[in-house]
Amino acid sequence: MEKVALILDADDTLWENNVFYEEATDAFAERMAREGFDPQRARETLARVEHERVPVYGYAPQEFARSLVLTYQRLCQEDGRLPRPEVEAEVEAIGNQVVEYPIILLDGVAETVAALSCHCRLFLLTKGDPEVQRSKVERSGLAPHFEAVHIVPEKGPEVLRDLLARHHLDPQRTWMVGNSPRSDVNPALAAGIGAIHIPYHRPWSFEEVPVADPERVVTLQRFSDLLRLFPPPEDMP
Ligand SMILES: [Mg+2]
Repeated sequence: MEKVALILDADDTLWENNVFYEEATDAFAERMAREGFDPQRARETLARVEHERVPVYGYAPQEFARSLVLTYQRLCQEDGRLPRPEVEAEVEAIGNQVVEYPIILLDGVAETVAALSCHCRLFLLTKGDPEVQRSKVERSGLAPHFEAVHIVPEKGPEVLRDLLARHHLDPQRTWMVGNSPRSDVNPALAAGIGAIHIPYHRPWSFEEVPVADPERVVTLQRFSDLLRLFPPPEDMP
């Protein structure tokens, strides 16, 4: 029988990612509080700025730093104050903490990916800046387990359909695995392949949209549960 194919998301599915952004956002909110702005308002303004900018500028970490500076400028503007260059520089430094963060694999990922690669076809699909994402894949040490690594600007059902065609995958035996309802689960449902959702402990609000068809989604608590879903074929004596 044809092998099962698993298309794995990377950020917040294989390794920690958003937690670094959350820590930077906490530091930013605290810095804004010291400037006299309500920290909750600073967070909400940042969320609005990101919703405006991500569709235009994408997911590069440098753009996150830029969004923090623009958020500070917007807060000042709303209150009729002039932004101070030294605060802008501090805010940019806070944002730049997320550039080249260390790769910390999530629990059980290294062993599970290695075990799955023996009896499943594994593909990695990640969105974002090509150079940044490639560096993370290399530093993860997981690349040898994947038949192919695809880095795209944005994920959608058309990207998945293209992968199915390119690698001759049977939709009935292909699953997308990821943490994001917006970028992993809903595109898989729309493309007619299996959808496996593994929620991340500190999700990015931008990715948290309603799941289109919850009854068709398998939700797992941890990455290693994939081995229970796709166990190795038993050795025949
Ligand atoms: Mg992800």
